[in-house]
Amino acid sequence: MKQNGVILWLTGLSGAGKTTIAQRLENNLREQGYLVELLDGDAIRQHLSVELGFTKEDRDINVRRVGYVANLLSRNGAIVIVSLISPYRQVRDELRCSTKNFVEIYVNAPIEVCEARDVKGLYAKARNGQIKLFTGIDDPYEEPLNPEITCYTAKETIDESVVKILNAIG
Ligand code: ADP
Repeated sequence: MKQNGVILWLTGLSGAGKTTIAQRLENNLREQGYLVELLDGDAIRQHLSVELGFTKEDRDINVRRVGYVANLLSRNGAIVIVSLISPYRQVRDELRCSTKNFVEIYVNAPIEVCEARDVKGLYAKARNGQIKLFTGIDDPYEEPLNPEITCYTAKETIDESVVKILNAIG
């Protein structure tokens, strides 16, 4: 099978919808017969980056690691979907320069919406101080300035976001 590799890099706040969109995208592409791999932030931290915390230094190491793996896969023709908060602009831009076919997808929802969803109960813990360095609460999130695609998940349905991405990558 001949297919061009690509890295679909989903960045955004916790609860913005990265994993939800990534999984639906993954299923859709697999059903179409594409070779696709999903690198999800939670799984990466359980397996590849277990020793890392959430300081800027550790987050940057984590993002570079995932970028490295994504590059290995995509240069062999895989469609790689990355679902990772990846809050710092500089390291995202670094990956854009050092990899081929890097597509930055900003999964954008207001923090109030993410907090109201509080899928994993993490915002509540961050608010009462049980979790420190939580993105959007006491740690920064630097929005992409020129993402290839933005999914507004407070306004669009999950399927609308998925279709938007599928259309953009042709
Ligand atoms: P993240 O991976 O960014 O932390 P999740 O995908 O784990 O976020 O959680 C997002 C939550 O928001 C899910 O419960 C999902 O069902 C919900 N949600 C509601 N509307 C949307 C939408 N339009 N796009 C994506 N997720 C949505």
